[in-house]
Amino acid sequence: MYPQLLINAEKLTQNVRVLTDKCHAKGLTVMGVSKVFCADSKISACYANGGVDFFADSRIVNLANLASFPQPKVLLRLPSISEAQNVVRYVDISLNSEIATITALNQEAAIQGKTHKIILMIDLGDLREGIWPTDFDATVTAILALKNIEIYGVGVNLTCYGGVVPKNENLSQLVTFAKRLQDQYGVVVSMVSGGNSSSLYLLDQPEGQGLPEGINNLRLGEALVLGRETAYGDVIEGTFQDAFQLVAEIIELKEKPSIPIGEIGMDAFGNKPTFEDKGLRKRAILSVGRQDVNVSNLIPVDSRIEIIGASSDHLIMDVTDAPGLEVGDTVTFNLEYGALLSLATSPYVRRVMI
Ligand SMILES: *Cc1c(COP(=O)(O)O)cnc(C)c1O
Repeated sequence: MYPQLLINAEKLTQNVRVLTDKCHAKGLTVMGVSKVFCADSKISACYANGGVDFFADSRIVNLANLASFPQPKVLLRLPSISEAQNVVRYVDISLNSEIATITALNQEAAIQGKTHKIILMIDLGDLREGIWPTDFDATVTAILALKNIEIYGVGVNLTCYGGVVPKNENLSQLVTFAKRLQDQYGVVVSMVSGGNSSSLYLLDQPEGQGLPEGINNLRLGEALVLGRETAYGDVIEGTFQDAFQLVAEIIELKEKPSIPIGEIGMDAFGNKPTFEDKGLRKRAILSVGRQDVNVSNLIPVDSRIEIIGASSDHLIMDVTDAPGLEVGDTVTFNLEYGALLSLATSPYVRRVMI
């Protein structure tokens, strides 16, 4: 049955092993970020076997599903006040920036007889989550008044929204905040979390330009699953880029003109398509579509195949230069992040581990 999201357990585990070894050697712990594959338990086992120190996900339900793994569970997305009860119940550490939410977590922790650990997120310019640096003292003072909250550390997220690249300079500010927490407020700072897969390239920079001393954790998703760092998109040595692939089946294979016949209006997604006349071309239709996958993030393994369009449930390819295909054959694609995210989320795609 197709489409399939094919997962090569050996390749994925090796990716994780290479990166955790590299981080551990530099004194960094690794959070394995599982959101891109919806924290599937078999895929998550590769993370555990590869040596991640924590499991991290944006969704509580995913972390709850990982309860049988011994690694502590970290909630990456800021909690909603309405889910405070489940955060305290299922999550060991959550990333936070709102005092109203932390207050709600404190109340819930008191009810459940727990101390809830938080990482205080600081916005160093990317403009997604985090307190503004000038609010640091007021925020810390307010948190320290809450009896059932422990400030486990500080963290930053970069590159995700604003595209700001992590550098020695901006991450040094994070270390400075960690020191202030320790020196001015007497907090034992266990974790200084220096970002996501876009911070990895700093491990290879010369002294003084790399990851500043004091950063002791990274939160890695894309680098583990696709073997690339994300500040510049470079492949990581010793890792695989094809641990995850899409396999889909050909349901029609015919020679047709390259320009539609009739007046061209809007396509199914409200765009007016344009076409180039290449004459008669051999076209294959696969039974997978935009309901399953972000099509622009698919890379045919056979480079002679070109994706020329997709609707909700059909993917159309020009296979003129790739002879030998037949109806019923399958076609395999390598994936970029957006494709993996969508495929893992579609209920119509079967996950097959090899
Ligand atoms: C998704 C996420 C990550 C992981 O990002 P990658 O680029 O996949 O490594 C790290 N931190 C936070 C807060 C996230 O939401």
